[in-house]
Amino acid sequence: MFLGAVGSLTSVGTLAYTTREPVETLEIRVWLSRGAAAYDGVGERIREYLERICDLEYWTLECSVGGTVDVSTEDGARVTSSGEWPLMLAAGAVGAHAVTPVADVNLLVTDGQMRRTPTGYGLPHVASVGGARHVASLESFDDLLSRPAANAERGIVPKEPATRSMQVLVHEIGHALGLDHEHGISFRDGNAIVATPMLSSYAWNGDADVERSACGRSYPEPADGPRKLSLAFSSCARRELAAYSGSRVG
Ligand SMILES: [Zn+2]
Repeated sequence: MFLGAVGSLTSVGTLAYTTREPVETLEIRVWLSRGAAAYDGVGERIREYLERICDLEYWTLECSVGGTVDVSTEDGARVTSSGEWPLMLAAGAVGAHAVTPVADVNLLVTDGQMRRTPTGYGLPHVASVGGARHVASLESFDDLLSRPAANAERGIVPKEPATRSMQVLVHEIGHALGLDHEHGISFRDGNAIVATPMLSSYAWNGDADVERSACGRSYPEPADGPRKLSLAFSSCARRELAAYSGSRVG
């Protein structure tokens, strides 16, 4: 089903991108499932965070909220892996559906569970993630980063359901831009171990394809100190993003 969906996506051709020079404008559009839209202000909260996290020096960020869509599941991974969300975007691109995709990242946020992986899914230009109820409970970006346990300069925040859900959301956006898990790192900050978005909780749970970082450093051994999250892409991931040219990075 999954490969079939991607096959039809390609044959529709509407989301096929030619290689271009590094983009000047990066477009991210966020849609909400019915379940996610039930939380007041969740779309604007996500946009506020993305405008801080994804506003890198390589591009001008255009982040918009596309509205609410009807999908058959609130499962943040399955809605993409089943082909439903990619096909809806493909239909929208040819005017056969009300969703209007943008060139770079089309993210659907659902109210899917965030306890068991997979909690989201990212393909080139297409991503989805659960956790709307957690994200809706986030304070403003500035308030979060000014908490005593946070480090504003490095984008480090405590690991909680809300911050973790936002980090997974950023992780899936990274996949949509062509980043892989190996573009994430973990590092020490005091006695804490911090994971960046592309490594995410693989820093603690292990994963076969992230035994080594592509970023030229090994991961610190998981230790007993507190676990924290960075909402900022690692410098290695940012180097990859600098080369993003509208198809995949690298
Ligand atoms: Zn991933």
